[in-house]
Amino acid sequence: MRGAVLFAILFVANQAWADEIVITGRLEQGGVAVGIAPVGSKIIFNSRALTPTGTGQFVLGFDRDAATSAELEIKRPDGTSEHRQLAIQPRKWAIERVKGLPQALVTPDPATEARIAADNKLMAAVRERTEAVPFYESGFIRPAEGRISGVFGSQRILNGVPRAPHVGLDIAGPVGTPIHAAADGIVSLAKADMVLTGQSVVIEHGFGLDTVYIHMSAIRVSDGQRVKQGDVIGAIGQSGRANGPHLHFGVTWFNTRLDPETVLAVLPAK
Ligand SMILES: [Zn+2]
Repeated sequence: MRGAVLFAILFVANQAWADEIVITGRLEQGGVAVGIAPVGSKIIFNSRALTPTGTGQFVLGFDRDAATSAELEIKRPDGTSEHRQLAIQPRKWAIERVKGLPQALVTPDPATEARIAADNKLMAAVRERTEAVPFYESGFIRPAEGRISGVFGSQRILNGVPRAPHVGLDIAGPVGTPIHAAADGIVSLAKADMVLTGQSVVIEHGFGLDTVYIHMSAIRVSDGQRVKQGDVIGAIGQSGRANGPHLHFGVTWFNTRLDPETVLAVLPAK
């Protein structure tokens, strides 16, 4: 009898633990967080339905301009649900002036404009696709050696004209410097002739997370290829719209741009 009571208490305690929803990471603009919910839960984040991993993990990403609160709903397999309002910390962004860019790329002609629009559409479609394999669990490494020459979020003024904010991390280095896969994944785009981004690679890390590598001088992987963290995928260059050799490294959660430095801090290599 005593054994049965003890068993019942342990069972209840265990259930309470299993029902716990835990979110870790950085709830801030450009940030990323990983949540865990009871296996089989349905997750809805800002009206987007997310499929958690087989162990109940899910990934959340917050835009550079994310509102200060986000809606998270968790529908447990037992039919109960929980609603959480997440407070998202705002950040302050730098102003960055870039001069000396070819004027034709800053204000393109209509034909170039159409090619840029097609490139953007392709990138958006690639980012929206995702794999149900948690490759991101390898954690992330900085993909190249070099000086940080541009940070995430800065408001850009190109040749004196205000433009869209910078949504990646720029790592400057000599042409030919090797670029490594930041995490395990599958190459979801390897394209040499993009107008603004030049030789470009996207790697899919599962559950919405992608990394983007642009302005390369060489691509060493092909579409659909499986890569391990650290594999050489290309080399630093100056292709596309770039005013010097550097890697523009981007991290996205679907089409939400994340701060690569935050992702490196929240999800470090194992
Ligand atoms: Zn950049």
